[in-house]
Amino acid sequence: MIKVSSCGEARFWKEVLFMEKLFAKNLIDIEPYVAGEQPKNDKIIKLNANENPYPPSPKVQEAISAFDAETLKKYPPMDAAPLRKAIAEFYGIGQDCVFAGNGSDDVLAAAFRAFYNSDKPILYPDITYSFYPVWCELLKIPYETIPVDEGFNIHVEDYFRENGGVVIPNPNAPTTIGLPLKDIEELISHNRSSVVIIDEAYADFSGVSCVPLIKKYDNLVITQTFSKSRSLAGMRVACAIADPYLISYLDAVKDSYNSYPMDAVAIRAGAAAVEDREYFEAACKRIIATRERTAERLRELGFILPDSSANFLFVTHPEHTAKEIFSFLRDKGIFVRFFNKPRIDDHLRITIGSEEDMDALISALTELLGK
Ligand code: PMP
Repeated sequence: MIKVSSCGEARFWKEVLFMEKLFAKNLIDIEPYVAGEQPKNDKIIKLNANENPYPPSPKVQEAISAFDAETLKKYPPMDAAPLRKAIAEFYGIGQDCVFAGNGSDDVLAAAFRAFYNSDKPILYPDITYSFYPVWCELLKIPYETIPVDEGFNIHVEDYFRENGGVVIPNPNAPTTIGLPLKDIEELISHNRSSVVIIDEAYADFSGVSCVPLIKKYDNLVITQTFSKSRSLAGMRVACAIADPYLISYLDAVKDSYNSYPMDAVAIRAGAAAVEDREYFEAACKRIIATRERTAERLRELGFILPDSSANFLFVTHPEHTAKEIFSFLRDKGIFVRFFNKPRIDDHLRITIGSEEDMDALISALTELLGK
């Protein structure tokens, strides 16, 4: 019997024992995506996962309260039709242009599976959403990263070359920088032989969405999430928008691993969230206003940051390391995101919280900087 003192040690010994087993060589060897830390304590000011500090539309609460639990004895609609219909109406597009899934990580994984089957590498920026390499490893998709410039800008001309697909978030994460629609259109039009995925997780905070381009380009897939601008991170709701032909391939992938990724409550709640356009628009405006005020105050404290098109900021300070600021804030009960990775380990990603959250952040930073 092996005595173990910690989880890490337990895993080590388990691995030693398992190495002997024949099936060991067939276990998946992958480094999974690491999400922002989930604190146990409710008092923490959580600015590390780009969640929305405000509740979803009251219509969501109404829909959940009115939900009849008895209906759960049946499977939900396989195609999440009420949600697809609500999204289609929101954008004035056909319902057959919409796919719905259990969070955009689920939708993106299905899209990688459906569209990236070439021997040629898919392309994405070197600084971007760190789930992309994980799906590439998991699904054995060859990939190549394209460096963003010194100011973290993406240059679409860098993607005008042979590839097995292109994926970029607009605005990009964690850099917060958005591309104008004309650049996105150039990217798509120069890549007509491959599928271009534009991950619009944060586009509602930039006002730039390429949804209108799906009528013109049958190689464009847009993914969107309800986790940020619609305050439904805990519900797991997202969609893809594309030409119906591409949507049919997403459906085929979905029906090849899980026919019912969206549960009945999420379908109803998601539809209620989209139907309340007024609440949604006001909620985005509020976050944008707080973002602009916070950016200004951070600059006054000496932070350097690009103009943000998202619901978070990407900051660096000339006199303090990101790690030092991260630890100081953590001790004060304020969680922000530090990435211990080349090129960005001198930066922090800070989610826009409520006005009070940002006041607390600024006063903690003022204390640290002795201003
Ligand atoms: N894309 C980007 C760029 C993100 O930052 C996130 C959030 N981690 C997602 C997709 C996935 O969000 P969700 O699964 O909550 O929809």
